[in-house]
Amino acid sequence: MKGNAVYLDYNATAPLRPGIADAMREIMMDPGNASSIHASGRRARSHVEKARAQVAALAGTHPNQIVFTSGATEANNAVLKAFAGKRIIVSAIEHPSVLESAPAAERIPVTTDGIVDIAAFERMLASGETPALISIMLVNNETGAIQPVADLARLAKKKHPGVFFHTDAVQAAGKIPLDFPALHVDYMSLSAHKMGGPQGAGALIVAPGAKPVKLLHGGGQEKSQRAGTENVAAIVGFGLAADTGAGDMAAVKALRDRLESGLQKDSPEIIVFARETPRIPNTSCFSLPGLDAQTLIMALDLEGFAVSSGSACSSGTVKPSHVLKAMDRTGEETAAALRVSLGWNTKESDVDSFLAVWSKLVRRLKGPR
Ligand code: PMP
Repeated sequence: MKGNAVYLDYNATAPLRPGIADAMREIMMDPGNASSIHASGRRARSHVEKARAQVAALAGTHPNQIVFTSGATEANNAVLKAFAGKRIIVSAIEHPSVLESAPAAERIPVTTDGIVDIAAFERMLASGETPALISIMLVNNETGAIQPVADLARLAKKKHPGVFFHTDAVQAAGKIPLDFPALHVDYMSLSAHKMGGPQGAGALIVAPGAKPVKLLHGGGQEKSQRAGTENVAAIVGFGLAADTGAGDMAAVKALRDRLESGLQKDSPEIIVFARETPRIPNTSCFSLPGLDAQTLIMALDLEGFAVSSGSACSSGTVKPSHVLKAMDRTGEETAAALRVSLGWNTKESDVDSFLAVWSKLVRRLKGPR
């Protein structure tokens, strides 16, 4: 079965960058456990270390701070679970891999534009015991809104010098420049498949002096910080994607802007979420109240287009978006929310054909205007 002809769901998973599948295949055909001391093992080790340097360079940090994981879900779980039983503060719009790893965490509200409410955060910092951990994502996966993490971390550490700060930077990597030291955080989670690398590889960046966090116990891999045989091929793919970096994001932004002005022209009542805030260049989350996102997604799918709803969709169950709910959006706005996310292989013709089909579907679903 072939996928959709027009793929506009890069925030769910981005297509592999050219050359990565071939490089990974070569590694998979060449056996070697990176912990073995013979020549094959040493070669696998050198592949892993090269990728470590590439990922470190993407984040502006030192390779010895990179711990490879199976993805960002694991990296997020490792950090949040290491502070279980202590006071944890998270934003209300975190990915479920943060929220469900710390169900007792206090949640910082966000504005209607989807940015962490700084005044509310300051009030939380000023009351109660010193928090052990704060976790605020750098970019939200649904709206693309960029959170002021450096300011929030500075604020938190000024008030509570002992607090640890984690940021989920999954949707930032490869879309905006990353500078781990400048963010003043202790931990950062990354995922390869959101930036044109393979699924099943990610990293946790741990700053010097941060409390060690360890989810998986066993062998001494990753300097005893993450047990389990390294997925060498996937790590190599991750390194190559990191090396490619952001690519031409100005071109992607031009396509996103073309999409939004086309939508606005066709449907003037459309709402584009987080439009007035700093956003990553590839994401558009919008809603035409009165429509139903699931119906739209299925109709678009039949026409050959892959997009997401602005709601958490996993294991075939669709729940209303906790992100849009936290942004105080109405049920009608939330029910109609779609997320279109573009990337390195999106073409102007993809956007134009999406707009043509959108116009046709809206007329069919809402009736002629
Ligand atoms: N955090 C964010 C913001 C994400 O968008 C995702 C992927 N949906 C994850 C974490 C989980 O990443 P992974 O797929 O690597 O487990």
